[in-house]
Amino acid sequence: MPNQNMCNCNEQPNLIDISNNHSDFKSKLNQLEIGDWVLLMQCPDCKQLFKVDEWDKYQICYAIKLPSSKNWESFDSKSMIKEKMVKDRGGLSKEKCMWAGCHIKKVKGSAYCVNHLYEGGARA
Ligand SMILES: [Zn+2]
Ligand SMILES: [Zn+2]
Repeated sequence: MPNQNMCNCNEQPNLIDISNNHSDFKSKLNQLEIGDWVLLMQCPDCKQLFKVDEWDKYQICYAIKLPSSKNWESFDSKSMIKEKMVKDRGGLSKEKCMWAGCHIKKVKGSAYCVNHLYEGGARA
């Protein structure tokens, strides 16, 4: 008999953009702890842990799969988000970042490298 309530955590990437389905995504999880603009949540079906960004209408919200709840709030999501930003924007260009003194290649379609895009507030 197929289980209608089976979660799909396994099929999800490690980094999930939940900007457009924030409350829907959260509604399927149990909240374990509240951090600084982030939540520790767990899937009741498969016990997968997630670090979930609090809703912010001005910002892209992400959920990240966590290997454990230990130091969950400081789990590094930055590098995963940067990696996704580069990928979603089509990779790196051949030229260097416009930021003075920065020698990192800029992201395609942008004047800056991913670090400076991130520091400027970009999350996608
Ligand atoms: Zn699950
Ligand atoms: Zn740069």
